[in-house]
Amino acid sequence: MIEISGVSKWYGAVKVLDDCTTSVAKGEVVVVCGPSGSGKSTLIKCVNALEPFSQGSITVKGTSINDPATDLPKLRAHVGMVFQHFELFPHMSILDNLCLAPVKVLGRSQDAARAKGLALLERVGLAAHAGKFPAQMSGGQQQRVAIARALAMDPVCMLFDEPTSALDPEMIGEVLDVMVELAREGMTMMVVTHEMGFARTVADRVVFMDRGRIVEDGPKESFFAHPATERAQQFLARIL
Ligand code: ATP
Ligand code: MG
Repeated sequence: MIEISGVSKWYGAVKVLDDCTTSVAKGEVVVVCGPSGSGKSTLIKCVNALEPFSQGSITVKGTSINDPATDLPKLRAHVGMVFQHFELFPHMSILDNLCLAPVKVLGRSQDAARAKGLALLERVGLAAHAGKFPAQMSGGQQQRVAIARALAMDPVCMLFDEPTSALDPEMIGEVLDVMVELAREGMTMMVVTHEMGFARTVADRVVFMDRGRIVEDGPKESFFAHPATERAQQFLARIL
């Protein structure tokens, strides 16, 4: 579903991604972790074509991001992205947040978009809040809305960048529960997170990054039981 091959990126003279190669198969859940500044956000943004890269190639469901002929807005429409800071539209109701892109980008009718939006709010446990505005909701609720909003576009895969790291501890669980359910339903997911409980529960593979490089990429069992690099051992010792 996602193929990342030899991707490098520089910010000026600084190499922030260094020959990164990995993939996410259909239905697979890959957790990306690593120290601050190791390039996790940059890598995941490259997959959604939110960041250009200098070398290498990325394809999503067979469509190359590098190919100048690729319609990037169309590709982005089918790659769900959830950020640390929910980024809901503050001046719109929760339901309108969910309907905007399906109507504007996919050309769905208002009625169809609302029906699907309500069903998705039901799924994340927020059907009763459809008419509220983002500021009237907790961080955990807003993040569940952000996930529902991404799902409203019928994504082929979902990218998450530290979706729980801005939340109060008591709200982390409710967001992870939604993500675990999504994973169990077979969604293809690439998740930057330090929630190792989530990784242990649903990840198929763990990718560990250090200084722009993917230094470990393998089944979660081997990553947790015997990380190959000293850097990953130190990292796990610190956060587990
Ligand atoms: P964190 O865990 O703190 O979110 P990260 O692994 O997501 O870190 P990135 O945000 O991808 O790391 O950053 C990788 C490197 O690129 C860092 O050294 C960072 O300082 C640098 N960087 C990121 N964005 C820019 C930018 N717009 N201009 C210059 N350098 C940048
Ligand atoms: Mg980051």
